[in-house]
Amino acid sequence: IPNEFKEALPILRKIERAGYEAYFVGGSVRDTILHRPIHDVDIATSAYPSEVKSLFRRTVDTGIEHGTVMILDHGNGYEVTTFRTESGYQDYRRPDKVFFVRSLKEDLKRRDFTINALALSESGEVTDLFGGLADMKQHIIRAVGDPNERFNEDALRMMRAVRFASQLDFKIEQATLAGIARHSQLLEKIAVERSHTEFVKMMLGVDAENGLNIMLQTKLYQHVPVFGDHFKELQQIVDTKFDLVNETQVWSLICYQFGFSRQQITHFLKRWKTANKIINDVILTTDLRFRIAANRVDNWLLYQAGRQNVVNAITILGKPNHTESQELLQKYDNLTITNKKQLKITGGDLIKRGILKPGPTVGQTLNYLERAVVSNQIGNTPQELIKATLNFIK
Ligand code: ATP
Ligand code: MG
Repeated sequence: IPNEFKEALPILRKIERAGYEAYFVGGSVRDTILHRPIHDVDIATSAYPSEVKSLFRRTVDTGIEHGTVMILDHGNGYEVTTFRTESGYQDYRRPDKVFFVRSLKEDLKRRDFTINALALSESGEVTDLFGGLADMKQHIIRAVGDPNERFNEDALRMMRAVRFASQLDFKIEQATLAGIARHSQLLEKIAVERSHTEFVKMMLGVDAENGLNIMLQTKLYQHVPVFGDHFKELQQIVDTKFDLVNETQVWSLICYQFGFSRQQITHFLKRWKTANKIINDVILTTDLRFRIAANRVDNWLLYQAGRQNVVNAITILGKPNHTESQELLQKYDNLTITNKKQLKITGGDLIKRGILKPGPTVGQTLNYLERAVVSNQIGNTPQELIKATLNFIK
């Protein structure tokens, strides 16, 4: 039993001593049984939110309308959620109403997949009402109850299924898979941000090729931004062996395969509601990837990309390009400078020596020196930089 659970045991005990039920639920239970590292420990209880709050000194209403209260304890925060059922789902996403209930069974019933519908008690006993343990043993993602109903209620579950298949290297059970194929269009009802999160997690999973392939087979890909016109390129990505570790790599691999220009990349990623910082890195990484393909990498390009984006571009080369990758990284690591501040002269120095007058020439000169040093046209010493400056302003 992992430390995260041990530390949270006093919370479970306290709720139980007050006469309620309390269990660990969700991903942390699943991941513990699969011997995977866990992140957040979720607790479900028969106590109503007001009852939970009255039991603990320090709580935060993180999602009280859905029954979630965070308990602060020794620097840790635990989300405690009252058993609930849901109803409504008139817009294929999120329930219109949640109802607090006292029955664990009702709470587990509304969960998405059997492997996510397990509860672990304080004594270490697992409640498994839908065959989640057997599915875990057989590496199967299976909807709780009727898949058609469940995807109708909340279309995000289809992306979650694909994401778990990739992360856990599991197969999606046949009826569940058929449900996804049948309802794929409903994904359009879901906020892009939510599909985005699941998609990126999927692409970072161990079996991402398979996850992407499922998106193609079930037609889910037609109902996320921009992918619909790119079946062939997506198929090519499926056939490449890759091992991505961050979001920039995910989008760069796709933008490279789609043959996107800078402008197209920006447009594409804005439609996916991607953070600006990521968009920037994807542009640099994709650009570098194209130049690697054209055998036209130079110091200046590597310098502008920065080390992390060089690593990103190398990673999306795919698995069998070890020597080429090492050479590129070596080339980056051999750069004379990696930052303008490392120039052995400053604008102030050049002004003090009477070589430059304050004004726009200073910035232009430094840009020139930066590029000349990076490209090994001049050395990074005060003497050489001064000589180059005199030449530049002549
Ligand atoms: P992760 O390890 O990525 O956190 P998780 O399974 O814990 O995976 P969460 O989004 O943290 O996923 O949700 C916690 C639990 O809540 C899930 O295990 C599942 O039981 C339930 N759940 C989450 N999202 C849904 C949903 N869309 N429909 C039904 N149940 C859900
Ligand atoms: Mg979780």
